[in-house]
Amino acid sequence: MQYSRFGRTDFMISAVGIGGLYANRVSNLPGLITEALDAGINTIDTASTYGLSEELFGEALVGCRDRFLVATKSIHRDFNVFCQTVYQSLQRLQMEYIDLYYLHDISTPADWKLVRDGGHYDFLKHRQKQGDIRWIGVSVHDLDTAELILSERDFDVIMLAYNLTEREPEVRIFDLAASLDLGVVVMKPFAGGVLTETRSQAYGLDIRAADALRFSLGHPAVHTVIPGISSLQELRTAVACGNQREILDMPTRDQLCQTAAFLGGVFCKGCGYCLPCPAGVDIPLLMQMHSRFRLYDQRNWQQVFQLRSDYEAASVSGDACVGCGECLKRCPYRLSIPDSLAELHQRLS
Ligand code: SF4
Ligand code: SF4
Repeated sequence: MQYSRFGRTDFMISAVGIGGLYANRVSNLPGLITEALDAGINTIDTASTYGLSEELFGEALVGCRDRFLVATKSIHRDFNVFCQTVYQSLQRLQMEYIDLYYLHDISTPADWKLVRDGGHYDFLKHRQKQGDIRWIGVSVHDLDTAELILSERDFDVIMLAYNLTEREPEVRIFDLAASLDLGVVVMKPFAGGVLTETRSQAYGLDIRAADALRFSLGHPAVHTVIPGISSLQELRTAVACGNQREILDMPTRDQLCQTAAFLGGVFCKGCGYCLPCPAGVDIPLLMQMHSRFRLYDQRNWQQVFQLRSDYEAASVSGDACVGCGECLKRCPYRLSIPDSLAELHQRLS
């Protein structure tokens, strides 16, 4: 496994970590943790909103907690709920302290204002002084907001998406993060799963997860990449990429991006932040269909035929949307969900 200095934390972090979104899908989490340790992985990332992930890691890390930099996050904007979540994370993880706590998904200036002025940031600073938290991070999906945040408050770590379809951090954030000596964590190396063998095929593409990871690890500003791990096979792919990490020159990065360029930068990543929908619409499912539809309409009738059949199989169709707008506030990619659902229904039903 390769390691690098994680910015001002001075921690020597492994090139890949365990993303904990799918911890509940892992059949033997303690076994997976043991294999990850043996392979040299020393960081785990979870969140208070990843189902039972914190509890599962809390149990699985008994006896080896000190061998990992453990990160978690809270997305809550209500100040009291946010504070409770921090205490709850300590309990669920069964830890006396959390290495890294993120203000999670601060992806609009309004979000930032809320947690900056609402006491959330100050609360984390206070808990840091009390020894509950070692370092403070911020996770962002919007780079304008990221620049604003970093110009106004001090953080130890930034987490952002950097993958074959999202390269803007190269020109907007990486130098800034280096100048502030921040740790840089890359989330969504597979763009929500699309940049993997199985899912890319649904888009008519041939993209390997290992190539996607190679790309995200290929920039020197990146300290660690945290793919969501749900099986030993995925862990082994990540370990192999972490072992073979190489800094890529620009032509090589450009070349790796060529296949994925067809996807464009803006498409549904299937992250699920838009949920729940009061009308019961499976928004990630239908929005990913819409992204495929946008690419293939009028160009590939075989794909559109398949989409029609997938759409018919969905339990709730797009016309169930009542236009409440709740999902619009939550989608970090600002996708126009109600309009897209209406278009999908009109064209595929
Ligand atoms: S706007 Fe439509 S899809 Fe979005 S949450 Fe409301 S009902 Fe659901
Ligand atoms: S619509 Fe937005 S929030 Fe919902 S799954 Fe897609 S990218 Fe994520």
